[in-house]
Amino acid sequence: MVMLRRDALTLMRKEIARVAGVASDVIMGIAGRRVGWEEGAALIAKAETLGLKAPESFPEFVRVAVEETNMGYGKMKLDKLDLASGVVTVSILNSFEADPPGTSKNPACVFALSYLEGLFSKLLGIDVRGGEGSCRAQGKDLCVFNLAPKPGQEPKTDTSNQARTTTLFEFTHSESSSKNKSSL
Ligand SMILES: [Zn+2]
Repeated sequence: MVMLRRDALTLMRKEIARVAGVASDVIMGIAGRRVGWEEGAALIAKAETLGLKAPESFPEFVRVAVEETNMGYGKMKLDKLDLASGVVTVSILNSFEADPPGTSKNPACVFALSYLEGLFSKLLGIDVRGGEGSCRAQGKDLCVFNLAPKPGQEPKTDTSNQARTTTLFEFTHSESSSKNKSSL
C-alpha cells in the first residue's frame, strides 16, 4: 500500500489533536511556520541559481512555486502578491485540515496558515502574519488566507522603489469562475 503524504498529514493531525488536545493548534502552528520558512529558504536558493535576486524580480517564480508545491497540504493558488505593502492572498482548494468540509464553526487550517506565514516571511524578508478569512471546514468552497506585515513591520523600501512601475501582482485563474458563482 502506498501512503500518500496527505493521508499521513491527516493521520498525524488527528493523533496530535488526540494526545495534545487544545495545545495541538500550537504544535501545528509551530511546525507549519518552520516548514514554510525552510521552504522559503529553499525557494530563494533556487531563485538565486536561476539568477533572480530579489522577490521583485520573481513574482511569477513565486506563484509557480507556491502553486506547484504538492506537499499534500491541498491545491494552492497565489491570488495576490503586493510587494509594496507586503499583502498576500492565497487560497487552498482542498486543505487537508478542512476535512470533513462543513463541520466547523471556525476556520480550521492552522498548519496551512502558519506555513504561509513562514513561507512569505522568508520570501518577503519581513514578518507577515495573517488569518484564514473563510474555510472549507465552515462549508465554504475555498480556504482563503490573507497575510500582511506584523504591526510595526514595514516592507523594506528605498528611494529606488518609487521608480518601480508596479509592485502589485494579481493572478487570475481560469478555474476561479466557480468560486464567483457560488458566493453570490
Ligand atoms: Zn481552511
